[in-house]
Amino acid sequence: MAWIESHQSLKDHPKTRRLARRLGISVPAAIGHLHCLWWWALEYAQDGSLAQYDADDIADAMMWDGDSQQLVQALVHAGFLDETGDGLRIHDWRDYAGRLIEQRERAAARKREMRQAYEDGVIDQVRARDGSICRYCGKTVNWKDRRGPDGGTYDHIDPNGPSTVDNLVVCCRSCHSRKGARTPQEAGMRLLPPGKHQVRSRSVPDPNQNGTGTNLPTVTVTQTGEENNPPPPLRGASPHGGDARPADRGATNPPDEQSGRVRRMIPHEAIKDAWNEICGAAGLPRVQVLSAKRRQYLTARCTELARYFGEQVYTVDWWRGVFHRVRGSPFCMGAGGRGWRATFDWLIERREAVVRLIEGHYDRVADAQTAFERTREQFQPGRTDEDFAGWRKRGGGST
Ligand SMILES: [Zn+2]
Repeated sequence: MAWIESHQSLKDHPKTRRLARRLGISVPAAIGHLHCLWWWALEYAQDGSLAQYDADDIADAMMWDGDSQQLVQALVHAGFLDETGDGLRIHDWRDYAGRLIEQRERAAARKREMRQAYEDGVIDQVRARDGSICRYCGKTVNWKDRRGPDGGTYDHIDPNGPSTVDNLVVCCRSCHSRKGARTPQEAGMRLLPPGKHQVRSRSVPDPNQNGTGTNLPTVTVTQTGEENNPPPPLRGASPHGGDARPADRGATNPPDEQSGRVRRMIPHEAIKDAWNEICGAAGLPRVQVLSAKRRQYLTARCTELARYFGEQVYTVDWWRGVFHRVRGSPFCMGAGGRGWRATFDWLIERREAVVRLIEGHYDRVADAQTAFERTREQFQPGRTDEDFAGWRKRGGGST
């Protein structure tokens, strides 16, 4: 979850007071609008540059109903925005989001490095040495298990060290998450010696050998029957995996080493198909294309919802249940009388829509109206949104 640093000095800072005076609002209101800007920027202006946005976008991001030009001028005057040759920038953005930016950069670098490690045959060498035995607990990992505790992954012994044969070991997910971004010593864990495997001399694997086991040396360890079943290597994998089938997607995602967690396999395509089958067939807009953005939203929602509902949110069945609730809700089906109907995007783009749906807020039309409005308030501003365009005109503008 993304977050910014919010200094207690903001409340009394002359800049904040200047902004409040300029806009004719209270200091707490100014603080609120500023936070909306910063939170929004975490997603939509990660480098702090607002060059691609106009005053209306900024006002929308800040949930500012007044004059957008006046707002931007006040922000510049107070020192929260800088006017540069390349357009507006958020002042001292790194101070607010520096840690997050660094974290993201580290995570991205680690992912690139791991992909390179697969391409360079480093991972093959690690597998040749460790087989399918977790180097921390000694149990046999299951390479087919893409998210359970017994599933296999690779651990950086020194979390800040390079992705080399010496620093990578086969590891079960259970040990991997227990260890986190710590050294074995820091985590109070012991690194077991590798099996009887020898590191292969050939460093570049044959790209035609696609994880069928033939590119691994003969294995002499007997604790496991998994040796003939290594995972497909990650060659040519892209972060969003194109249209790979769900079953393949887990295999093409390198583990998210930086955060110590493993990227979950989310059956994006199957979830989309279930929407079309359940809600599309009932008259709601069908999803034709699962764009990268939609995949990202779906991933974000799954990750979030897993905290409340557990691992089941990564299954199509769980989403089918959600879609049946959509279909069972008169409000979602358009009975609200304002011409609004639920869409796939509405459901996945907002943090609270699914939760409120499950809690039954949309079961009765009257309740649904309130829930809808609350969801709208939490909707991250600054994006084009057809769902809410009509709503803003009618409800939001109270016409
Ligand atoms: Zn283990």
